[in-house]
Amino acid sequence: MKGNPDWLTFERQHVWHPYASMQSPPPVYPVTRAKGVYLQLEDGRELIDGMASWWSAIHGYGVPALDAAIHGQLKNMAHVMFGGLTHKPAAALAERLLAFSPPSLQHVFFSDSGSVAIEVAIKIALQYWQAKGESNKRRLLTIRHGYHGDTFGAMGVCDPIHGMHHVFESMLPKHLFADAPNTEAWHAQQIVPLRKMIESHHQEIAAFIIEPIVQGAGGMRFYSPRFLAQAHALCHDYNVLFIADEIATGFGRTGRMFAVEHASIEPDIMCVGKALTGGYMSLAATLCSTKVCHGLHGTEEHGAGVLMHGPTFMANPLACAVACASIDLLCASPWQERIVAIAAQLQALLMPYKQHPKVADVRVLGAIGVIEMKEAVDVARVQRLLVAEGVWLRPFGKLIYTMPPYIINHEQLQRIVTAIGKTI
Ligand SMILES: *Cc1c(COP(=O)(O)O)cnc(C)c1O
Repeated sequence: MKGNPDWLTFERQHVWHPYASMQSPPPVYPVTRAKGVYLQLEDGRELIDGMASWWSAIHGYGVPALDAAIHGQLKNMAHVMFGGLTHKPAAALAERLLAFSPPSLQHVFFSDSGSVAIEVAIKIALQYWQAKGESNKRRLLTIRHGYHGDTFGAMGVCDPIHGMHHVFESMLPKHLFADAPNTEAWHAQQIVPLRKMIESHHQEIAAFIIEPIVQGAGGMRFYSPRFLAQAHALCHDYNVLFIADEIATGFGRTGRMFAVEHASIEPDIMCVGKALTGGYMSLAATLCSTKVCHGLHGTEEHGAGVLMHGPTFMANPLACAVACASIDLLCASPWQERIVAIAAQLQALLMPYKQHPKVADVRVLGAIGVIEMKEAVDVARVQRLLVAEGVWLRPFGKLIYTMPPYIINHEQLQRIVTAIGKTI
């Protein structure tokens, strides 16, 4: 790796990267700037970003409208505390979020990251039942292969085998895990494990949490809207709150603004993050219905009276301003057509690999393309090959996948798939 060896050597010894060893650190590539769909490395090479910086940079990089929103807000203030103070960017963002979300969602809690948005969702659910005097309802129900973040509450509902349960087992609450659908196509059998679990445990379950339609970091698995609709109906019938984790799927990625729309359901609580600011800043939000919001305040007898959360950088004005601009840009763009075009191209170019002897499965949904190999991928090696082809991807486990910025053009997407093909 070229460039200034001093800062890189220092960085390698002192700065952690996601899920990475500090003793034998995996390779990292220094980026100096990013524009459109391109990441520019320090040695001048340009890579097409097939990851959209982990689902977030949906408009690509260096977007004039988003740059302008940050500069404009910066002239007034970068940040002020949200306790006892407020500002227009927060109100404007809440207004936009509520306008696009399922109508029963009416209240917004802003936080710094997706994991924290999940913590807040869990607290809302627990406080809701506590305030109702049903303090035995304090377990969570989910399906296997989920991913909801890295903080403790969120880890507790991540996949118990492939998540971090093995490291933190003794510290995590004992939640309930039903088998996840194992095919994209719907079979009535898929709902049986979940139904049985709700039937026998509903009296102790506060909420059911799920990533709608696409299970992301837990394995890039897709499942049928009918499963989602039936799970939602069961929760309704058995008095279990329904939490939709739209942190990865929100803002158009699956072809709908939010993935819950595929099943026409309204969750009680919904979390958004990742693409909320177009990948510019760290911001997330937890939305909930009026029933849940008013319910959690409780009575003199039960409940804390208020939602027990309040981060230092809550509703950061810079982040809210850029999120407003990102949502406006998305809505003004032909995003549905773009996702349909990306899906069609991924479908056409990736599906032939299904026949490849090393490939176990290929799947495409919206602007997400996944190749599941039969064996685990050597990430460092595959990444080196992809970088040599001018493409940035971050495979994990057996998966090589892409969820590019929506602005990617035909030729750029072709280059991503060609690069994937060569590495296979
Ligand atoms: C990324 C992700 C999270 C966690 O968000 P962070 O901002 O990384 O804390 C939670 N749920 C889902 C579905 C995610 O994809």
